[in-house]
Amino acid sequence: MTTTVKIPDSIKPEDGRFGSGPSKVRPEQIAALDAGATTLLGTSHRQLPVKQLVGSIREGLHDFFKLPDGYEIALGNGGASAFWEIACASLITRRAAFGTYGSFSAKFAASAANAPFLEEPAIFSSEPGTYRLPELTEGVDTYCWAHNETSTGVAAPIHRVPGSQEAGALTVIDGTSAAGALPIDISQTDVYYFSPQKAFGSDGGLWVAVLSPAAIERAAGVESSAHLDGARRWVPPFLSLTKALENSRKDQTLNTPSVANLIMMENQVRWLNDNGGLDWATTRCAKSASLLYSWAERSDYAQPFVSDPAARSHAVVTIDLDERVQANQVLALLRENGIVDCAGYRKLGRNQLRVGVFPSVEPSDVVNLTKCIDYVVEHL
Ligand SMILES: *Cc1c(COP(=O)(O)O)cnc(C)c1O
Repeated sequence: MTTTVKIPDSIKPEDGRFGSGPSKVRPEQIAALDAGATTLLGTSHRQLPVKQLVGSIREGLHDFFKLPDGYEIALGNGGASAFWEIACASLITRRAAFGTYGSFSAKFAASAANAPFLEEPAIFSSEPGTYRLPELTEGVDTYCWAHNETSTGVAAPIHRVPGSQEAGALTVIDGTSAAGALPIDISQTDVYYFSPQKAFGSDGGLWVAVLSPAAIERAAGVESSAHLDGARRWVPPFLSLTKALENSRKDQTLNTPSVANLIMMENQVRWLNDNGGLDWATTRCAKSASLLYSWAERSDYAQPFVSDPAARSHAVVTIDLDERVQANQVLALLRENGIVDCAGYRKLGRNQLRVGVFPSVEPSDVVNLTKCIDYVVEHL
């Protein structure tokens, strides 16, 4: 039985939300909902006010990611998981290669393996806590991996597989928990896709994708020749990247979006840009992450899970605990004190804490979180 521990207010974070997605939503984003209570919420997404919101998100992300010429922002409903199916239906021509090193990177690979119109993917896998990039492979037209593997707290480098672009292949990166938190050179990608409930601190249910001219051209080609594909490939409108892009260019989505989510996302993108954009955000996340990693290294009961310091994520920090300290007990006591969602990824099954240190999280709250963990452990 755990005895209840009351953490002193003096060391508690101001905001106790440290989830890896859904993540902390800033109070200003909630206030933006209030401000749009009668002008945006409950109004048509085909009319100017909501279209302006979408336009502002697209423009704001354009600046935030410093898009090279010809790159465009598309968005649609369904989250990053839906985008995996979109990529299978309308981006991969025949065969993809995947780096897989955790739950999320493996799920996209599984989707491609199950698509009856695609060839068996080339899989380059490594142990949880490490990463592995796909290697140049004959016949592969699309290279895929995750910038930040949220299930393990591993960040992978993003640069094209040497020789892949010359071979006409695309680089498709899952930036779901990295976008807005980790540095990225978009020119090294053809598709950088993500959901807004991680670093953008909004709700789930939406996907956003940064598309290169090559990716746009690829989708158009795959979709227009789908009927020739031995009649096996079906590209339903919901999985058509071309349809999504056509709608996005008109500041709309194929079907009805959550207007509330667009309001929160728009507010977050503006907040990030007003504070200094991607450089500011990545510096802030790096600071929060290093506070946690260095605390764990100093601690006599905790240590960073990812052994290679260069692969330690600055977005999602994973900390292993000694077996004498039960993570479940620590988590339950933190939760009783209003500090929530620091659990490790369930299927990883480790005695672990996992902390989302996205831009919305105050670094000073991260310092207090470490104090609260120490306090709880002392009082177990
Ligand atoms: C959360 C996450 C996903 C899934 O996002 P959904 O919006 O729930 O579909 C995919 N990839 C990564 C890396 C994630 O962190």
